[in-house]
Amino acid sequence: MQRWNGWGDENIKLDPPPPALEILQNLAGSGQIWPDYPLAKFIGRIPPSRLTAHPLISFDARLRLDHAHGQSLPEWIGLRGGTLPRFPDGVARPANGAELRELLKFCAAQDVIVIPYGGGTSVVGQLAVPQTERPVLSLSLERLNRLVALETDNRLAVFEAGIRGPQLERSLNAKGFTLGHYPQSFEYSSLGGWVATRSSGQQSGHYGRIEDLFAGGEVLTPRGSMNLPPFPASAAGPDLRQLVLGSEGKMGVLTNVIVRISPLPERDHVYGVFFPAWEEGRNAVQHIAGTDIPFSLMRLSNPLETTTNLALAGNERQISLLRHYLGLRGIGDRNFCMCLIGFTGSRRTTTAARGAASSIIRHHKGIWIGKPMGRAWQKNRFRSAYLRNSLWDRGYAVDTLETALTWDKVTPAMQSIEKSIHEKLQAGNQSGHVFSHLSHVYPSGSSIYTTVIFPLAESPEQTLEIWQRIKHAASRAVVAAGGTISHQHGVGRDHRPYLAFEKGGLGISTLQEVFKHVDPDQRMNPDKLLP
Ligand SMILES: Cc1cc2nc3c(=O)[nH]c(=O)nc-3n(C[C@H](O)[C@H](O)[C@H](O)COP(=O)(O)OP(=O)(O)OC[C@H]3O[C@@H](n4cnc5c(N)ncnc54)[C@H](O)[C@@H]3O)c2cc1C
Repeated sequence: MQRWNGWGDENIKLDPPPPALEILQNLAGSGQIWPDYPLAKFIGRIPPSRLTAHPLISFDARLRLDHAHGQSLPEWIGLRGGTLPRFPDGVARPANGAELRELLKFCAAQDVIVIPYGGGTSVVGQLAVPQTERPVLSLSLERLNRLVALETDNRLAVFEAGIRGPQLERSLNAKGFTLGHYPQSFEYSSLGGWVATRSSGQQSGHYGRIEDLFAGGEVLTPRGSMNLPPFPASAAGPDLRQLVLGSEGKMGVLTNVIVRISPLPERDHVYGVFFPAWEEGRNAVQHIAGTDIPFSLMRLSNPLETTTNLALAGNERQISLLRHYLGLRGIGDRNFCMCLIGFTGSRRTTTAARGAASSIIRHHKGIWIGKPMGRAWQKNRFRSAYLRNSLWDRGYAVDTLETALTWDKVTPAMQSIEKSIHEKLQAGNQSGHVFSHLSHVYPSGSSIYTTVIFPLAESPEQTLEIWQRIKHAASRAVVAAGGTISHQHGVGRDHRPYLAFEKGGLGISTLQEVFKHVDPDQRMNPDKLLP
């Protein structure tokens, strides 16, 4: 059963081990433990619906609460503190294309705002309900979750857009194929949501980001249906798929998605590597990314994230043996940085890739630790998201932010993002635990993924205020450093004020005109993405 006010399956509990809590306590201090706002009280607060009754629309209060938010920190504060401000007037879960069309017709006739809902895992306010006189419908794709066609000769699969990660992979794996798209939210996020937010999977180095995997499909816009055929390549003008990728529900509803699939790999291995300090790790990662070595993932943690991850691993004896071993190999543990590197594909290509990467790693003073660390990461790759629940229970809020920049800017940007967060916390007499890693690397640059953990304040309002200060300062630091406002989470409501810095005035007005053309009444997820 999915948890109503946190992440994931309510039966899964992942407690941080004592050494990790000690680090947190030392760096961030103690948090306030709030009693959770009760579900029954929330349900009692849902206002009457403004929607006209329709057989495909439910006014059930619990459903309306569940579809009123994604997984952003402000939404968590609202859920666990009881301050979530608004709820959709109804929720529809169409079971086929005819019902979906019927619902869109109804919304047009009744002047209803529509928010497409995939898995509800977005983290920057893409699903937030706007303050508006018009009724709001959450249109869940949950029941549109079938494999429509598998064209193995064409290496394509057609899915209904609401299918979630595990079901999608199961249906492909059964036939010897995979999509290979594994965001950390894999368990709950949906194919349509991945496309609509330009998501990035953990093994994007091998399989590509969702924009590489998205071959076409169908979008139902308020003006009619747009078909995107899956050409292997095309020179016929600008690619309309690019308007759908990252459109966050504003182009309309993706009903079917055609994806490029791959045969299941013979090997899928991840290895651990340690570098004496950040610069060596960063240089090695850039060096490998600039070659033709086919890695599937490279993820370099900075020193504080490395210490935190080792503490979180929980096995103190193994970690102390590891430290001892690294000490013998000349790597002191003050500044060392952990890197995970993965290779996916045939035995021949992965062996050759591993060999080539390890000589570059040696050149940059890295120590190859081998598979156990990689295996542990693979086993827990979707589990660490559950720590957010247990940290909250101990009085800490967790948020993450990310960007991507060219290599020359990576280290200064990481430092200035972290500094901006610390400064804002200190200005409010607070402290926090802030650490980063490079999560996806490219020949021309890298993404940076920063985690911030800070103690909850006395009230939801005060905690939200702290978050707003941090988010604004970090977003300004991203923009000042020349980074994109999002490498993978999208824009939603929280990044909207910063989008014009990278798109420019003409870019923003061009997008505005496109969305206005397909959605003249601004019915589709209106207050997201664009300023
Ligand atoms: C713990 C955790 C880990 C995460 N890890 C990653 C990660 O590794 N990589 C990554 O990229 N992201 C990650 N995310 C963010 C999030 O999972 C992604 O943004 C994901 O793509 C959202 O998919 P969803 O199905 O949940 O979409 P939703 O949250 O339901 O919707 C997101 C947006 O897409 C629109 N939308 C959804 N479905 C459709 C559709 N069929 N047609 C039109 N519009 C639609 C919605 O209107 C909304 O604007 C993570 C989030 C969490 C909570």
